[in-house]
Amino acid sequence: IQRIAVITSGGDAPGMNACIRAVVLTAQHYGIEVLAFRHGYEGLLNNDWQRLDETNVLHILQYSGTIIKSARSERFKQAEAAQEAARNLDAHQIDALVVIGGDGSFRGADHLSHHWDGQVIGVPGTIDNDLFGSDDTIGYSTAVETAMDALDKIRDTAEAMDRVFIVEVMGRHAGFIGLSSAMASGAERMILPELQREKPLTVASIVKHIEAVQRVRGDSSYVMVLSEHQWPGGAVRLAEQLEDRLHLPCRPCLLGHTQRGGRPTAHDRILATRLGVHAVQLIRQGVSGVMAGTSGQGLAETPLAETWQKRKGLSQEWVDIQQSLFNPVKKSKNGS
Ligand code: ATP
Repeated sequence: IQRIAVITSGGDAPGMNACIRAVVLTAQHYGIEVLAFRHGYEGLLNNDWQRLDETNVLHILQYSGTIIKSARSERFKQAEAAQEAARNLDAHQIDALVVIGGDGSFRGADHLSHHWDGQVIGVPGTIDNDLFGSDDTIGYSTAVETAMDALDKIRDTAEAMDRVFIVEVMGRHAGFIGLSSAMASGAERMILPELQREKPLTVASIVKHIEAVQRVRGDSSYVMVLSEHQWPGGAVRLAEQLEDRLHLPCRPCLLGHTQRGGRPTAHDRILATRLGVHAVQLIRQGVSGVMAGTSGQGLAETPLAETWQKRKGLSQEWVDIQQSLFNPVKKSKNGS
């Protein structure tokens, strides 16, 4: 192996820079050159590249974003586009490509591998944590910290004014950020895709829960975490619907892209570093078509297609804990 390429693709995630750094430093250790294509698959199509060596990656691991830029590329989905990308990679004599991104980016990597002979390794970089085959993904821990921090701040003002707040978090079609941030902040309720699929909450059931909580506690705040795409009209609409029924101030708060920025947590920096090193080691071993992830204390590889074809579930234990802690009806029946 003489030369590898790296891209960051799809939604950016805190820790991507730490991963780029690990790839570059590890490759350099083995005398392998690294080229980055900028703006994800768009860079492969536009032949927009730069060489990366130690000097380019000094002191970047503490910053979110990605020094080689990320993007989405609709046109890359065409067979001709993958062929064009393959030609560009071959022109640079690239032996292997590291794709840091989410499930869409891995579909892209798989698509490319049908048209290119080089090795392709995926590294899970997405705040959503929705990839099968890795306990967690680069950026997830930081996004949860950011959401928790916001929820703590919301609690301060909610409690002062006895208000209901609906805080909308990211996660795409998975409730990992929602569940973790709700647990970490002690939110009274959470609306997550996995739970909505099983037993959807209605305005009436939410109102009943809020009234039950307030009956038990007296004056009190009520904070609900809402995963994106889980309520028509989102947190803004749900707040209006609740306010109509409760005649109490109900406020929406959309965390949006704040969850993609900020200083990556130690966990994300370490995870990104481990996976970046692992990706290069796999390339040196001749491996291709897998995602480099973690399982328990160790490292694990999963065929790219499995990462999106199989579903990673929420921890039922966590869901049960979170729901049992906020069951005021049962609590009052027990005479407390
Ligand atoms: P995140 O979920 O964190 O936003 P992601 O990697 O899933 O990240 P996507 O926008 O879904 O982000 O995908 C990134 C890029 O991967 C797309 O813009 C496209 O270039 C490529 N891609 C996605 N799906 C496919 C596909 N089916 N075939 C080929 N390329 C794809």
